Amino acid sequence: MTPEAVIDTLKTLVEPDKVRVDAESLNTWGKDWTKHFEPAPLAIVFPKTVEQVQAIVRFANEQKLALVPSGGRTGLSAAAVAANGEIVVSFDYMNQISDFNAFDRTVVCQPGVITAQLQQFAEEQGLYYPVDFASAGSSQIGGNIGTNAGGIKVIRYGMTRNWVAGLKVVTGTGELLELNKDLIKNATGYDMRQLFIGAEGTLGFVVEATMRLDRAPKNLTAMVLGTPDFDSIMPVLHAFQDKLDLTAFEFFSDKAMAKIMGRGDVPAPFATDCPFYALLEFEAISDDIANDALATFEHCVEQGWVLDGVMSQSDQQLQNLWKLREFISETISHWTPYKNDISVTVGKVPAFLHEIDAIVGEHYPDFEIVWFGHIGDGNLHLNILKPDNLSKDEFFEKCATVNKWVFEVVEKYNGSISAEHGVGMTKRDYLTYSRSPAEIAVMKSIKAVFDPNGIMNPGKIFA
Ligand SMILES: Cc1cc2nc3c(=O)[nH]c(=O)nc-3n(C[C@H](O)[C@H](O)[C@H](O)COP(=O)(O)OP(=O)(O)OC[C@H]3O[C@@H](n4cnc5c(N)ncnc54)[C@H](O)[C@@H]3O)c2cc1C
Repeated sequence: MTPEAVIDTLKTLVEPDKVRVDAESLNTWGKDWTKHFEPAPLAIVFPKTVEQVQAIVRFANEQKLALVPSGGRTGLSAAAVAANGEIVVSFDYMNQISDFNAFDRTVVCQPGVITAQLQQFAEEQGLYYPVDFASAGSSQIGGNIGTNAGGIKVIRYGMTRNWVAGLKVVTGTGELLELNKDLIKNATGYDMRQLFIGAEGTLGFVVEATMRLDRAPKNLTAMVLGTPDFDSIMPVLHAFQDKLDLTAFEFFSDKAMAKIMGRGDVPAPFATDCPFYALLEFEAISDDIANDALATFEHCVEQGWVLDGVMSQSDQQLQNLWKLREFISETISHWTPYKNDISVTVGKVPAFLHEIDAIVGEHYPDFEIVWFGHIGDGNLHLNILKPDNLSKDEFFEKCATVNKWVFEVVEKYNGSISAEHGVGMTKRDYLTYSRSPAEIAVMKSIKAVFDPNGIMNPGKIFA
């Protein structure tokens, strides 16, 4: 079939004006947040119903056409990028929330529901959807499930996986499966719902998700603490975890702080300049808890682990403190950062970070490095900023050569080369540092079951 005939047929499968082939649309929906690959899709289709999704998949199988599921396109691993003439399937028009069940605390979402839309819906019911991160205003539930998104509240609430009660999926053969029926207890064999979470659209499309909600947290209070060195951050984490149930524990370096201050629209937390900062959050539901937090802060100062600190006294202050951490990704995107999103078990973080830092210092002496991340979960974001004198391609090439050393350390510590951003295309050549050949073979066999013709997001996760 010619490309023109493919486009004409697509127009019969969805509403004719829900197929776009203009250059601007191809560029917009053909990429995510990464800048490694040039978008080059054949067309963008916007189904409005599950039946339309099934029709697209069946047609793609007949004609052996590649499909790329597309959510809010905030992904950081090029998993939603269409760089090889694929058809992008966007869920922008399947974005309704329905069937709220107060008893089960569940709600049914179409895949195109924006993460912040679900958070807002939960709030209106007096409840809480806890998966949160800086791109929540654009990312979609389908994309969050595709990446098993984490974010800033994982230490207390876990990843997206924890909040998916049930899924409806259209597999790579066009079959509609209802997975887990929203049950809490269901011991009837393989839980295939879990396979689709984090599958990066390689097994099929999520066309509906029943999401769980939680009780709303009360009187959230944040502290930002400045530490004299990286080694002090983990004892601070332990000291606070001994006394409080934390809802977040994040860290960032002085370079990240300098970039945020450079924006001019976020107030400094305190006057002291520190090499590293920790941001922690808890529910101050009683005076005792607030007093425990202050006593722990004083203990950390006495131990020399903390140089200065501040505790939010109002919602506005809470939000301002969070901006210090939440604005980092967006702010440094100006420098086309090369991102690594690595993790180890929490106890290994200090030794691991020292080794990585030494490698980075040795191999990237001229590059500006910005560290930040969800350190309470063992997840570190290593961002290398592009100097003005290098082209994007030269810069990415230089960064890629050092990956080998970084990922050897990840492997040595039994860690992950991608904690939460996914493998996509940017990390697929490094998968063997985190997964054994036997595991990869099983993963490929699973893909072949759900997607025998390999039409679902080819080239993602595996080469
Ligand atoms: C500023 C910023 C901060 C971020 N912070 C975090 C963070 O703290 N934690 C974190 O985990 N991530 C973070 N991210 C990454 C990103 O927001 C998440 O990976 C998010 O889950 C992607 O959702 P999306 O809707 O944008 O998906 P997309 O980027 O559109 O797609 C992601 C993957 O999901 C697949 N997909 C999309 N829709 C479907 C569907 N309906 N069915 C099957 N597969 C589908 C795509 O094919 C792709 O493989 C951040 C990104 C930015 C830009």
